[in-house]
Amino acid sequence: MIKITDKSQCCGCEACRSVCSKNCISMKADKEGFVYPHVDLSRCINCKLCEKVCPVLHPASSTKVPSVYAGINNDTDIRLQSSSGGIFTLIAEHILRKNGVVFGVCFDVQWNVVHHYTETKEGLSRFRGSKYVQSHIGDSFQQAKRFLDEGRKVLFSGTPCQIVGLKNFLRKPYQNLFTVDVVCHGVPSPKVWQKYLHESVCNAYHIRRGSSLSLADKIKNISFRSKEKGWKTYCVKIEYQNGKKDSIFAAKNTYIQAFLSDLSLRPSCYACSAKLHHVQSDITLADFWGIERLHPEIDDDKGCGLILAHNDCALSLLKSLNCQLQEQKLDEAMAFNPSIIYPVKKSVNRNFFYMMLDKTSFAFSYKASTSSALLMRIIRKIYRKL
Ligand SMILES: Cc1cc2nc3c(=O)[nH]c(=O)nc-3n(C[C@H](O)[C@H](O)[C@H](O)COP(=O)(O)OP(=O)(O)OC[C@H]3O[C@@H](n4cnc5c(N)ncnc54)[C@H](O)[C@@H]3O)c2cc1C
Ligand code: SF4
Ligand code: SF4
Ligand code: SF4
Repeated sequence: MIKITDKSQCCGCEACRSVCSKNCISMKADKEGFVYPHVDLSRCINCKLCEKVCPVLHPASSTKVPSVYAGINNDTDIRLQSSSGGIFTLIAEHILRKNGVVFGVCFDVQWNVVHHYTETKEGLSRFRGSKYVQSHIGDSFQQAKRFLDEGRKVLFSGTPCQIVGLKNFLRKPYQNLFTVDVVCHGVPSPKVWQKYLHESVCNAYHIRRGSSLSLADKIKNISFRSKEKGWKTYCVKIEYQNGKKDSIFAAKNTYIQAFLSDLSLRPSCYACSAKLHHVQSDITLADFWGIERLHPEIDDDKGCGLILAHNDCALSLLKSLNCQLQEQKLDEAMAFNPSIIYPVKKSVNRNFFYMMLDKTSFAFSYKASTSSALLMRIIRKIYRKL
C-alpha cells in the first residue's frame, strides 16, 4: 500500500485515493497545507492498486516531439477572459458540441480552487483563467470514468501530474477521452491561498486579522490574470462585495511573487516527474512568452497561447478551431519558457517561509522570507526560542 516517506515523491494527484475500492485512503493536509494520502490499515486488503496507479512511482515517458504553435482565439472577448490565447475554451466548446463533458478548475463558494465538470457553454466561464493554487480533485476521476464508460466524450484539463494520475487511474485507453494540461511552474498550497485571501478581505473590510469570517459573501470576483493593463503586465484582481477592488501588478503582488520566486510550491514541484518527456496529455497549453520577439506581427498584448500538440488527433482538432495559428520551433519557444522542460529550483528560503506561515500571517511570512539574511537569522532565532 502507498506510504509517503519523502514528500517530494507525492504530487497530490489523488489517483491512489480515487482507485482504492475499499475507500481506505484519505487525503490529509500537512502543516504546509498540502494533502498526502493516509491509509486506514484496518481496512486495507493490500491489493497494491494504489501503488500501481501512482504517477510518481510509475512515471510515464514519451519520446514524441510535439507540433508547436502560437495560437490566438479569434473571439477577443474570450481571449481577454483567458490567461493566454483562449485556446482552452475553443477545445472545450468543440467537445461540448459533440455532447461531451468538460472537466476543469474553478472556485467554489469559499474561493477554494477545485476540479469540477460542466456540460454547458455557460459553465465554461468558471474554468477560464489560471488559478495558481493546487486544485482539490474530489471525485473528478471517478466521475470522468463514469462518463467515459457511458460512451460520452470527455475533456479533462489539469496540471501534467493530474493528467498522468487520471490516465493511470483509468488503467486503459479511452478513445472518447481528450486531455489538456498546462506548462506548469508548480502549485502553492490551498493554505497559502486562503491565508492570503483572508488578509486581503480583512484589509478591504477593515476587519481585525485572524477573525473568523466567511469569504462567500465578501468577494465578488477574482482573476489571477487580469489583462486590463496588458497581458505581459498582468494584474491580480480581487473585486469585493462592498465595491472595493484590488488590482495589483503581478510584479508587485506578494502572492504571485511567492509563487514565481519558488517560495510557496509543493515539494514535488521541485522534482517534477511530469515535464515534457513525461506528459500524457493530447495538448499542452502555455503562455507564449517571447512572442513579441519571435512573431511581433501577431502580438497585440491581449494574450497569445503556446500550444504543444502531442499526437495527430490533437493536431487535427487544433487545426479545426476558430483561431489564428502560427507554426513554431520547439527550441525557440522553450528558450522563453524553461518550465516546459525543467522543474523549478527550490528557493533556499522556502522551508522558512512555510515555517513562518504556520505561525504568523502570509504578509509577514513573505516579508520575512524575502528580507536580508541578517534579519532572517534574527527572526529564525526568535521563533526557535518561542
Ligand atoms: C498552476 C499553473 C501553473 C502554470 N505555469 C505556467 C508556466 O510556468 N508557464 C506558462 O507558460 N504557462 C503556465 N501555466 C499555463 C497558463 O497560465 C495558461 O493556463 C495556459 O496558457 C492556458 O491558457 P488559455 O488562455 O488557453 O486558457 P485559460 O482559459 O486560461 O484556461 C485555463 C485552463 O487551466 C486549467 N486550470 C486553471 N487553474 C488550474 C489549476 N490550479 N490546476 C490545474 N489546472 C488549472 C483550467 O481547467 C483550464 O483548462 C500555468 C497554469 C497553471 C494553472
Ligand atoms: S493496497 Fe488496495 S486496499 Fe490497501 S490502500 Fe491500496 S488500494 Fe486500498
Ligand atoms: S502522487 Fe498521487 S497517487 Fe502517488 S501517492 Fe501521491 S496522491 Fe497518491
Ligand atoms: S510542477 Fe509538476 S508536480 Fe508540481 S503541480 Fe506541476 S505538474 Fe504537478
